[in-house]
Amino acid sequence: MKIAAAGFQHETNRFSPIPTTYADFVREDGWPGLTEGAAIWDVFLEANIPIGGFLKFARAKHIEAMPVLWASAEPAGLIQDNAFDGVCAKILDGIAAVQPIDGIYLDLHGAMVTETYEDGDGEFLRRLRDRFGREIPVAVSLDLHANITPEMTQLADVITIFRTYPHLDMAQTGYRASELLHEMITVGRRPTVSFRKPPLLIPLHTQCTTMEPCQSLYAMLPDDSSLNSGSADIALGFPASDIEQNGPGIIAYHYSEKQSNQIADKLDEALISRESSLSSPLYSSQDAVTEALKKIGGSKPIILADVQDVAGAGSTTETTELLEVLVKAGVRNTALAAFCDKDAVAIAHQVGIGGEFSCRLGAKLSGPDHPGFEGTFRVAALSNGQFRFTGEMMAGLTANIGLTAAIDLISHDSEIRIVATTERIQPVDRATLTHLGIDLTKLDLLVLKSVVHFRADFEPIADEILLVAAPGFSPCVLTADKFPRLRPGVRLL
Ligand SMILES: [Zn+2]
Repeated sequence: MKIAAAGFQHETNRFSPIPTTYADFVREDGWPGLTEGAAIWDVFLEANIPIGGFLKFARAKHIEAMPVLWASAEPAGLIQDNAFDGVCAKILDGIAAVQPIDGIYLDLHGAMVTETYEDGDGEFLRRLRDRFGREIPVAVSLDLHANITPEMTQLADVITIFRTYPHLDMAQTGYRASELLHEMITVGRRPTVSFRKPPLLIPLHTQCTTMEPCQSLYAMLPDDSSLNSGSADIALGFPASDIEQNGPGIIAYHYSEKQSNQIADKLDEALISRESSLSSPLYSSQDAVTEALKKIGGSKPIILADVQDVAGAGSTTETTELLEVLVKAGVRNTALAAFCDKDAVAIAHQVGIGGEFSCRLGAKLSGPDHPGFEGTFRVAALSNGQFRFTGEMMAGLTANIGLTAAIDLISHDSEIRIVATTERIQPVDRATLTHLGIDLTKLDLLVLKSVVHFRADFEPIADEILLVAAPGFSPCVLTADKFPRLRPGVRLL
C-alpha cells in the first residue's frame, strides 16, 4: 500500500490586521517551516503534529509513505490568494509526482479562509478532487477548532479531529486518520457520513477539554477508530474566522447510514444540552489585577491569561491594556509573555544585557486604537530565539522565532519583566520564558497571552488562573455585531 500525505495548516482570523502571505508559510516560527519530501521524516516523525502520527503509522504497518509537503503559518488574517494558490499547487504537483498511490492523507486545520474562499480547506479539497478524481480514498485530520463545512464532509471520505484542547493529541489524531484510511483501502468500501451543525457559536475559553462541560462531552467519543463499529468526532469551531459556517460541527462515519445518524444525533444532543455551561464570564483587566493581588503570596504564581490577544488565535500580541493596569497597580515580581515588538528586541540586542533604552512598546501591528506603551527598559536577557520546547503539547519541536529579549520596565513604580519577541508566539510552553532564564516558580504573577493551550504546561506551576478579557483581535466575548456573515439562527455563547 502506498499513501501520499501533505499538511496545509492555517487558522484564519478575519479580525486580525495581519495578512497571511506565502512567506509566512515558508518561514519557520513556533512551528516548522515549509518542508518537502523526505525531509518531512526528519522534522515530523517524533513531533506532536498530525503528519508525524501518519509517519508513525506508516512505519508500524510497513506502508509506503510518500509525504510531499507540509506548511503552516501562525494564525493571522485572510490568506492572500497567491499564497493559497502557491501552496495548493505545490501539494497537488507533489502528489501527482508520486503516483500511482492507493490513498491520500491530509493534515489540515479546517478554519482556513482566503481572500477569495470562505472555506479554504473545502476549496483545497475541491482542487484535489478535480486533479485526482473521486475514486482515490482521502482521509483528513482537522484541528478541534475547525469550522467544518458540508463541502469538506462531501469531498473527504473520512475526517477525524483532535479530541483535546490543549491539543496534546495532534500526532495521535494523524495516526487515527491513517488507521481509518488504511481500513477504507483494505475493505474497499466508503463509509456513510452523518454531519450535524449545532446552531451555536462557542468562545474559545470554554472549549477546554480538561474541564466541564467539554470533558464529559469528549468522553462520549468512541475510542475504537474503526469504520465498522463507527467513528465520530466533534469540532468546536473558531469564531474569529467569521464565516457563514462558523461554529461547532459533528461528524460520524459508519458503513451503515442508520448507525452513523444515530451516533451523530446523540453527540448533537449532548453538545446542545451543554449550551448554558458553554458560556462563562471573564474578568476585566482592573478586576483581574485587583483579584490577583489578593491571591498572591502562595507557593506558586497566579496566572492572568490575556485571552483576547493570542498569537495562536491570530491576534497581534501587542495590546497593552492589561500591562497598563498592572503597572498602575504597582505589581512586583511579575513576568509577561510574549509581547511581539521586533524593534524593541532589536534595540535590546544593540544595547546588550544591562543596557537601558526607552521606546513605545507595541503600536506596530494593531492600528490606531492601540497606541502602545511608553517606557524605559533594562535588558535582562537575550536569545537568538531558537529553543527546544519542553512541554507535552509541543513535544519533539523546536522554536525558531527570531531574536528575543527579556526586558525589565524601570520607568514606573512596578516590577515587570517582559518577554519581547520578533515573531508572534503563543506561550503554550514554559520554554517560551525559561529560554531567557526566567525562573517561573519564583514569580508572584505570570501574565500569558494565551486562552487555553498554556494550561497543559503552566497549570501545574500555578496557584490559580484568572481569565482576562482585555482588548485584542481574538474575541472571546461574542456579540452579534462582530459576526455579520454568520448564518441565521445561530446562538452566540
Ligand atoms: Zn486549535
